[in-house]
Amino acid sequence: MKSKKFLMQESDIPQAWYNVIPDMPVKPAPLIHPATKQPLKEEDLYPIFSKAASQQELNTTDRWIEIPDEVREMYRIWRPTPLVRAEGLEKLLDTPAHIYFKNESVSPVGSHKLNSAIAQAYYCKQEGVTNITTETGAGQWGAALALAAKHFGLELAVYMVKISYEQKPYRRSIMQTYGAEVIASPSMSTRAGKDIITRSPNYQGSLGTAISEAVELATTTPNCKYVLGSVLNHVALHQTVIGLEAEKQMEMAGEYPDTIIACFGGGSNFSGLAMPFLRHKLNGDNPDTQFIAAEPASCPKLTRGVFRYDFGDEAGYTPLIPMLTLGHNFKPANIHAGGLRYHGAGAIISQLKHDEIIDAVDIPQLESFDAATLFARAEGIIPAPESSHAIAATIREAIKAREEGKKKVILFNLSGHGLIDMTAYDRFFANDLTNYEIPDSIIAQNTAGLDPVKP
Ligand SMILES: *Cc1c(COP(=O)(O)O)cnc(C)c1O
Repeated sequence: MKSKKFLMQESDIPQAWYNVIPDMPVKPAPLIHPATKQPLKEEDLYPIFSKAASQQELNTTDRWIEIPDEVREMYRIWRPTPLVRAEGLEKLLDTPAHIYFKNESVSPVGSHKLNSAIAQAYYCKQEGVTNITTETGAGQWGAALALAAKHFGLELAVYMVKISYEQKPYRRSIMQTYGAEVIASPSMSTRAGKDIITRSPNYQGSLGTAISEAVELATTTPNCKYVLGSVLNHVALHQTVIGLEAEKQMEMAGEYPDTIIACFGGGSNFSGLAMPFLRHKLNGDNPDTQFIAAEPASCPKLTRGVFRYDFGDEAGYTPLIPMLTLGHNFKPANIHAGGLRYHGAGAIISQLKHDEIIDAVDIPQLESFDAATLFARAEGIIPAPESSHAIAATIREAIKAREEGKKKVILFNLSGHGLIDMTAYDRFFANDLTNYEIPDSIIAQNTAGLDPVKP
């Protein structure tokens, strides 16, 4: 292990986030109000989100959006994050490819999620909000928001997907350490939760259900806003600090990536790394860069989903989003990459994939753990089960480069570490994990009634 690191100064933390929409050849179709069926207006989002987040969500004109000083100040706790040349992994794979990764696992909560949590909590505080709610899958988002909420003096209630609440007690403890209240979802504390428990008493929960519960609490509680950890445009926007830093660090390394890879849940870490590089593809400077989103084979919205207007949550409280989706009632298998168990992709990514500007691959669970183990042994860092999907896709590309005898520069995002996910590794070593496939008929059934997205 003699991996090379490319480090920057605190003063190199970006001053502005990058909004890709103005540069897209085809803009995402508008969000639709579920009651009026009209394109959503900014004010329609105010009951749910902060005004600043609502504005950013619908901003299709400004390429650069200034990062508030208070947010940059907090980014300094762990940013800029290192860019690492994974020479150990290259050697182990005997590949001519140069492999780099952006290490977002060094944040205090162990993942990229804090980049947006801080921004969203800050805007709520600015606007006089006192309470916020959210959902969390494996607990990374909840942990990040719990830290951000505490910093800005907000009370936070987190609906945590029940299976993870039971399987990942340490993430629950982390949220509680930062002072958040954590509720297993589905719960009896909301109508959405009660409804699904009545229909499926043994249901282990999903991000879609937890979102419904959190939105319901926010819209029925005074001075309370809802904060989302992925999928939406403003969350992707906040994550672009990852790619903006990586761009400068690749310059320091004297290379430019041919292939950019990140794992895919709702799209925030993929967008964060990819968008700043994508702008050089869209403006013609680097037309051949390839972008690959790595999703789980058990939850394949990008590779097998349909392009439809769908809800972002299970109960149908959110606006209708133009998304590649498996249907908002899709119940993903209980894979250990909890952060990837979401039925749809955000509007920007869905449009880019539909227009074949970005690619996607689906990774079986066992391949992701093989990749994780190999990476840990080569580079010393134990990756999150989510990030392992990006590593698996990277390994596929590096082996392809070896077989073709071509040098190739690959950059992937290490979205988080897996030190709190060791139960998943234990089960992998005990041969207790399996791959899951979903039949086409289930996807067709789940998406049957949804409206197509018109260009
Ligand atoms: C939440 C999470 C993901 C998936 O979410 P995206 O919004 O698609 O990035 C990936 N990796 C880690 C470590 C996560 O916590």
